[in-house]
Amino acid sequence: MAGEPQDDCLFCKIVAGSIPATIVRETETTVAFRDINPQAPTHVLVIPKEHHRDAAALAAAAPQLAADVLRETQAVADEDKLESYRVVFNTGSGAGQTVWHAHAHVLGGRGLEWPPG
Ligand code: IMP
Repeated sequence: MAGEPQDDCLFCKIVAGSIPATIVRETETTVAFRDINPQAPTHVLVIPKEHHRDAAALAAAAPQLAADVLRETQAVADEDKLESYRVVFNTGSGAGQTVWHAHAHVLGGRGLEWPPG
């Protein structure tokens, strides 16, 4: 069911604490942790604690929770004192999504090119 933890989901396991992560922020509804394969000096993933397969599913099923995730991206940027940063939701395998639990990438701490690859 939408929102329920999934046994085979890596990020649900991070939420449950059964897989370790470098957690930088936690709220009642979200967790933010450092990406294991950072692409910039700051590379943090913000996820809803509830399981939703991607950002579109999250926004459709739980718009307030999607807003919580977005608000936390700003909090992460503030915590790492980023003046400029990028928020990315890879949505679908063609866009590079590899983990099927909605997550925002917060990237910063270096110059970021546009358009992205
Ligand atoms: P996606 O490719 O947009 O789905 O992003 C998934 C991200 O999760 C990638 O940037 C991975 O490096 C990251 N990742 C995968 N496993 C872990 C982990 O165990 N801890 C932290 N980040 C992870």
